[in-house]
Amino acid sequence: MRVGLSIVFSLLIVALLVCKVLTKRAKKAISPHVSFLLSGMIVPVLGNLIIILSSDHFFATAGYYIYFIGMDLAVYSIWRFAYAYCELGKPKRYANIIVHSLLTLDLVQYILNPFWGKSFSTEKILIENKVYFRLVPLIGQTYHRVICYGLFASTLIIFIVMTVKSAKVYRSKYSVILFSMAATGAVETYYIVSRHPFDMSMIGFGLLGLMVYYFAIVYRPLKVLDRLLASMASEMPEALFFFDVNGKCIWTNEPGRKLVGVLGDNYDNIKDNLNYLFEDIDFNSSGWIKRVTRGYGEETQYLYMAMRSAADDKGNINGSYLSIRDITDEQLELKQEMYNATHDSLTGLYTKEYLFENIAQRLSQDTKSRYMVGYFELSNFKLINDVFGRQFGTIAIKQVAKYIQENSSPKSLYGRISSDSFGMLMNMDLFDQQKVQNILDGFIVKDENMEHHIVIHLGLCEVDPQGDIDVQILFDSARLATTSISNRDKAQIVYYDDKLRNEIIHDQLISNQVKNAIATRQIRPYLQPIVDSLGMIAGAEALVRWIHPEEGFMSPGQFIPLFERNGMIADVDKHMWRCACEILSEWKQRGIECFISINVSPKDFYCLDVVAELTGLVEEFDIDPAKLRVEITETTMIGNSFDMTKLISDLRNYGFIVEMDDFGSGYSSLNLLKDMPLDVIKIDMQFLKDSERNIKAGMIIKNIINMSDDLGIDTLTEGVETAKQFELLYDMGCKLYQGYYFSKPVPREDFEKQWFE
Ligand code: C2E
Ligand code: CA
Ligand code: CA
Repeated sequence: MRVGLSIVFSLLIVALLVCKVLTKRAKKAISPHVSFLLSGMIVPVLGNLIIILSSDHFFATAGYYIYFIGMDLAVYSIWRFAYAYCELGKPKRYANIIVHSLLTLDLVQYILNPFWGKSFSTEKILIENKVYFRLVPLIGQTYHRVICYGLFASTLIIFIVMTVKSAKVYRSKYSVILFSMAATGAVETYYIVSRHPFDMSMIGFGLLGLMVYYFAIVYRPLKVLDRLLASMASEMPEALFFFDVNGKCIWTNEPGRKLVGVLGDNYDNIKDNLNYLFEDIDFNSSGWIKRVTRGYGEETQYLYMAMRSAADDKGNINGSYLSIRDITDEQLELKQEMYNATHDSLTGLYTKEYLFENIAQRLSQDTKSRYMVGYFELSNFKLINDVFGRQFGTIAIKQVAKYIQENSSPKSLYGRISSDSFGMLMNMDLFDQQKVQNILDGFIVKDENMEHHIVIHLGLCEVDPQGDIDVQILFDSARLATTSISNRDKAQIVYYDDKLRNEIIHDQLISNQVKNAIATRQIRPYLQPIVDSLGMIAGAEALVRWIHPEEGFMSPGQFIPLFERNGMIADVDKHMWRCACEILSEWKQRGIECFISINVSPKDFYCLDVVAELTGLVEEFDIDPAKLRVEITETTMIGNSFDMTKLISDLRNYGFIVEMDDFGSGYSSLNLLKDMPLDVIKIDMQFLKDSERNIKAGMIIKNIINMSDDLGIDTLTEGVETAKQFELLYDMGCKLYQGYYFSKPVPREDFEKQWFE
């Protein structure tokens, strides 16, 4: 018995030591606690081994000391381990203090035992004819046992609670340790009560150590993993089918059952059903994926199928599984995203990028057809938004898109390329310019409150099948063609061709020269006299001329329309006004009482504060504002979006004389005369020309003059070329006259020579 036990104890000590080394190597978070616990088990076992082997009183007593102090260590280390293993955090501070002080007291009483002898003693007995020193417990020993039991029991409680509380799959992790602790405790109790010489519970402590090592360090909760995988597979949204090595279906989840239409656990028909649904499923080779589309139209279903095999560590195939995922939503989302990225959200037409891409593709594939690109632009779109409101602007854009959609030939490609422009690739042979022009002329946008003719310009650029095809450049050219359109108020179709290209280049060239031309006075006023009914000089109109170093003499018709398009007119006009003021200021000094009329372009009102500009000049040159007459055309007065009446009043209040230029060339509304605060009207020369052939036109001039008289407005007739005209107008009562009959516009020096010397 003694020999047997000592062999068992020795083996346990060796096993615990090995575990301790392995624990250290495992380097897990819990390793230090396990290692400490293993030491806690080794010491009491070692103590007992010494006791069993000793026939000598001294060694036996030493063995008992090691045993008891070892027991303190053992219960303490189990207690600490429990906290870590059950993930309870560190023991509370007060628990720590109590446990530490009770254990320290226990140690102290053992240390004092050799002197006071109240802990324990030994008695000599004979076992198997050999001397053995059996324990005689005294009061100190009782204290020791109470402490050990107490701590042991509280640890036991921790494990009981954990066993009861945790989910089924985790329970074994705690229950195994709980049971081995309980068994060990029972044997220990038996030893104490029976006063059996050998403490058999040491085997229990040793085994407990090994068990802890196994569960805390080695054990992987495979069962937990199994359960988790199984529940995951059941709850997966995709259909899963598992097959054994022989290819027999052994399990499928709910979506799988639904897909193939089987009920319960009868998996026998699954393979047939799958084959029926998807025709060529290859169950034998695993490791494939496949996309499948089922159904048509709205019902279309997109599926993603994957077959995989599962092999063990050695590479033997254990089975395979098939997963079928419904990717319809993703696919539809993807399609929607594709659509959004390629289609304009407002009109549903292609976006610029997508249109260009498609055109490039078409042109590279079809080199036989003759193509051209068309650039449709809403003229004055910003103005439409400003005047009629954004909502109307949006309706306009939508209707243009609709028009393009409805009138394009089936093979043409079209899209929206900016906020106010659309692009189209069209077959030249199918293009009927007259038809398009008619549609553009009658293009009307309506909403509940109003309808308005929207002017659309169409720039066209032919595609040269031999040339380099850059869609962007084709459209740039078509767009450039539209910039050459002077009359923004009428729908027009223009082609980009060599002539236009040269014109555009020329326009750019002279636009770049404007600033310098102003600074060097290449751009300067010519003066045309304005006379009274006696033929005496009354004033002059300042008319712009550009004496260009290369191009020579340029009349306003050659550059004003361009500058009105690109806004440079404001620079030219400011310069002209300044020149007029310079002249007036010199005339003032020379005592000359003539006025000068200056022209104001409709664009000036958008680019400048005309009133501030003119008053500033008058003050700078210290001249009488009445000497600077301001000519505003009839169309400007009524066609502008802002309040012209107020502007004219401001000018007149300051002292300027305001003239309505080109009266009769546009809308010729006599009402306008009533409503506009005016000083002078300049009757357009076209009226005069007509009056010679047409008696009615003559009557009208007469009436205009009479009516103006009544309203207190002076009349001036332009374009007087003959003595006869002069006489006629004189008889009608016209006040002022201007025309070639008196003089063409001439340089200032010539003007002064002719009229003042
Ligand atoms: P407008 O203001 O109606 O100027 C009168 C035009 O009629 C001038 O042409 C003048 O030379 C021309 N003219 C004068 N008498 C006769 C005549 O008896 N018979 C004929 N056939 N023509 C006559 P011009 O100088 O070529 O100017 C043309 C237009 O250019 C002007 O028409 C005016 O609208 C614009 N313009 C001229 N100078 C300026 C300027 O400094 N600023 C702005 N914004 N526009 C200007
Ligand atoms: Ca004028
Ligand atoms: Ca005029």
